[in-house]
Amino acid sequence: MAVLIDGKKIAAEVRGEIAAETAVFKDKHGFAPGLTVIIVGEDPASQVYVRNKKRACEEVGFASRVIEMPEQTTEAELLAQIDALVKDDAVHGILVQLPVPKHISEEAILRAIPPHKDVDAFHTENVGKIMIGDFEYLPCTPAGVMELLRHENIDPAGKECVVVGRSNIVGKPMAMLLLHANGTVTIAHSRTKNLAEITRRADILVVAVGRAEFITGDMVKDGAVVIDVGMNRKADGKLCGDVDFASVEPKASAITPVPGGVGPMTITMLLRNTLTAAESAVRAADK
Ligand code: NDP
Repeated sequence: MAVLIDGKKIAAEVRGEIAAETAVFKDKHGFAPGLTVIIVGEDPASQVYVRNKKRACEEVGFASRVIEMPEQTTEAELLAQIDALVKDDAVHGILVQLPVPKHISEEAILRAIPPHKDVDAFHTENVGKIMIGDFEYLPCTPAGVMELLRHENIDPAGKECVVVGRSNIVGKPMAMLLLHANGTVTIAHSRTKNLAEITRRADILVVAVGRAEFITGDMVKDGAVVIDVGMNRKADGKLCGDVDFASVEPKASAITPVPGGVGPMTITMLLRNTLTAAESAVRAADK
């Protein structure tokens, strides 16, 4: 039977550490790390994510603010709002909840958040730093996966690591972080041929595809560590991952459940990045 990697428990531990560091920060500097999240429109899933982020911020002692803008907000209006936050010293991290409405360029928005306040690590400068392995902020989901591996004492060094999915948010940075940790990394995607042959090579298999229960037991090597990033809703409304837990779990040595695996780690890493941003801002002001 596989070890169940308990993301909820690990996230609670890391958030405890962040809360303790935040208390020290506040004592020393007299203000709290501040995260402002902008949400444009009324996408119900985005509203849940934003609520969860705000609650998580409050729990660790951050100053958190949500700015809700209507669906018909223009790109110029959103850029002006971001600019005001860029100039506000009490705001250390800015996050625009994606997706934004179709009439707004996501690229323009991500470019407008300067690297030092880019706690999602989506700005090209931060992405470039991840590539060369000299980074301050890591994209939250892949960073959360690395934290789970660390907590379980799973070292990617020398292991066959297969990442299924190559999005800018998950797959690509995930592959880079595994590479920095000295894994031998393969990235698979929708044009990959003989996917099962490749996934069966994996000692560590990370799946970020967005298709319910896509990876089945026959695609996994005995003893593999399986990390399921996917978050899908089944017809009955229940959440499920990209991995078919029932057939994969008996073969895996360790596996993340959905929910309660990678999900709780993503927001935790956002908190970590926000604290890092606040600490950097203090250092920059001291110079
Ligand atoms: P994207 O849709 O941006 O990317 C999906 C990737 O999967 C693409 O690279 C695509 O390949 C690949 N893919 C699609 N079909 C196949 C296939 N048949 N075989 C192999 N590869 C395939 O999704 P994201 O990366 O943003 O998210 C992936 C999943 O992770 C989603 O379920 C999402 O909800 C979840 N997620 C969970 C988070 C969490 O906190 N737990 C955070 C972020 C995402 P190609 O590039 O060729 O099209």
